Order: sequence, then C-alpha cells, then structure tokens
Amino acid sequence: MTQAIRMHTHGGPEVLRWESVPTPEPGPGEALVHHAAVGLNFIDVYFRTGLYKTALPAIPGMEASGTITALGPDVTNFAVGDRVAYATAPIGAYATDRVLVTDRLVKLPDDIDFKTAAAMMLQGMTAQYLLRRTHKVTAGETILVHAAAGGVGLILCQWAKSLGATVIGVTSTEAKAELARANGAAHTIVGTANLAEEVRHLTDGAGVPVVYDSIGRETFAASLDCLAPLGLMVSYGNASGPVGAIDVGLLAAKGSLFLTRPNLATYTAKRADLEAAARDLFAVVEKGAVRINVNQTFPLSDAARAHEALEARRTTGSTLLLP
Ligand code: NDP
Repeated sequence: MTQAIRMHTHGGPEVLRWESVPTPEPGPGEALVHHAAVGLNFIDVYFRTGLYKTALPAIPGMEASGTITALGPDVTNFAVGDRVAYATAPIGAYATDRVLVTDRLVKLPDDIDFKTAAAMMLQGMTAQYLLRRTHKVTAGETILVHAAAGGVGLILCQWAKSLGATVIGVTSTEAKAELARANGAAHTIVGTANLAEEVRHLTDGAGVPVVYDSIGRETFAASLDCLAPLGLMVSYGNASGPVGAIDVGLLAAKGSLFLTRPNLATYTAKRADLEAAARDLFAVVEKGAVRINVNQTFPLSDAARAHEALEARRTTGSTLLLP
C-alpha cells in the first residue's frame, strides 16, 4: 500500500486527508517513483479549492523527487534506481509512491540532492521560462517582481540579478522585503497602495519593460500602470483570485502594452523543452547563481497545515512535504 493525501471534496485545508491507497503498477512507458520529497506549490491550493477542476477523489501535488522502483514495459531511457524529479500534471504527487509517464521525468545530476530538487523543479523551471523565454531579460533592464519573497519570487530575484537585471521586488512585509533584498532584489516595495508611483520614482519616470505578476485580481490594474510603453504584462498566477475578463482597450490606452497569461505546462510540453528548462535550472543552481531557499518543511501527512501557512502568507521561499 501507499500512503497519500487525498481529497474527496473541494474546500479548505481540512479536506486533505492522510489515507492508504493501493500502490499503483506502472503501465507501458511509465515508472513507479518512490518519493524522497514533495514540493508544495500555490497551484496545489487552486486544485484543492476547485478553482482548477479535477475529478474526485484526488491526490494533489505536481512536484516531487525520488527513486524509480519499477518500470512498465517499453521503457528504455530510464532504469530502476535512477534518481529523478518532476514538475507536471496530472496531479498525484502527495504520496509516498506514484506512477508517472517517463516522458515527464528528469534525471537528477549527482550534486543535486532530493530536497533541493523537490523544492525547485516547478518554481525554478517557471522562473526559467519567465526570464529566458516569455521575456528574455537582459543586463541593464529593471524588472518588477511580485511576491518577491515567495517560492518563485526568490528564484526570480536571484536569477534576474545574475543576468545583470535590476529587480524591484514587491512584498507584503518589511521582513519579506529584507529577504528579497538578500536574494538579489535591488529595490523593494512593501504593499501595493502606491505601486505605480513608487515604480515610476525608482525608474526616473520610465516604468519597467516587464512585470511578473502572480497575484492576479488585486494587482492587475496597478501592474499595468508600472509598465513602460510597449511593456509586457506577464500575469502568471492568481494568489489573490483570478483576474477575470479585461478590456483590451486598456492595453492601448496605457501605452500599446503586451499581455500574456503563460503556464509551465505549455513551456515544457515538448520533451526537448522540458530537458532544456531543467538543464538551465540545474546549471544556475550548480554554479551558485541561484540558491534554493527551503524555508519550511512539513510531514506530508500534515499537508493541511502547510496549505494553511501558504494561503495565510506565512511562508517564504520554497516549502517541502516529507513522506
Ligand atoms: P509563493 O511562495 O509566492 O506564495 C504566494 C505569495 O503570494 C504569498 O507569500 C504572498 O506574498 C503573495 N500573496 C499576495 N496576495 C495573496 C493572497 N491574497 N493570498 C495568498 N498569497 C498572496 O507561491 P509559489 O511560489 O508557489 O507561487 C507563486 C505564484 O506563481 C502563484 O500565484 C502561482 O500560482 C504562480 N505560479 C504560476 C506558474 C505558471 O506557470 N503560470 C507556475 C508556478 C507558480 P506577500 O505576502 O509578499 O504578498
């Protein structure tokens, strides 16, 4: 049997129950992975509440690291004993063991430990595509990063700095702002009450070429006001709720702006793109340009408490759930 967190209804953290489920068997092209560590991500909250739909009962979670313990027929590119990690749909990572198609697994280099891997695959490959593909950040640019002390946020701050960019990080508290600065943010703004004004002040009135906004509903309008003409609004999350319908005329009125609502699944859909993103991430971590901050750890059986902390904005950096 496998131990897993399952939800039978959508709702608050209390719907996350620790249960025994039959250990799945790998089919063609699949591997059974024994998890060493599971990553906590904000998207897990969206699946729990029902903002993102799933059939029930369901095991949440999209990210983990571990060892392959069995292989289905036809698998030639992986072996039992391989150290692997993943960040992908379908959900099902909150378990001691799970089956996944090997097309979505990445082999871990020897110098990347399981905890670092589980903490960084989803948030780190997200930072990779945001900074290297959605908008190719260049040296000398000033960029705006929301939730700068969060999981994706701390990675964005460090990675963008290593590319020579100046990061303005937005946080809700001074303590988080300090952490963002310690991780590469050159400037920080606490709260969003005067966001555009403060960004204009920091950029001599110019505004920024790109905003990375993971907050959604509460910050969308203010973020648009921070952009320079022809700037790019990257709305990549809904921590405060979805943005909903918008008037595209706003983009013209505010300076012929560009808008994208990207997700990691699209950017890693092709195996070659997944491998390239992971390679790029491993490289910045191995050379020390990006350090993965695992600032909270919970037993996997206590996933409900981890969700409470994440939603209450009590976490910083990355959070692990340990089987
Ligand atoms: P974080 O660690 O960043 O946690 C969320 C943070 O958002 C909080 O710590 C808080 O920081 C801020 N926040 C602002 N408003 C709220 C609110 N109303 N409720 C809760 N938090 C709020 O999470 P992750 O690093 O896991 O994810 C960051 C964001 O990126 C999420 O929105 C997630 O959905 C998105 N994401 C998108 C991906 C994509 O491909 N599109 C992939 C991965 C993540 P503070 O207190 O400083 O405001």
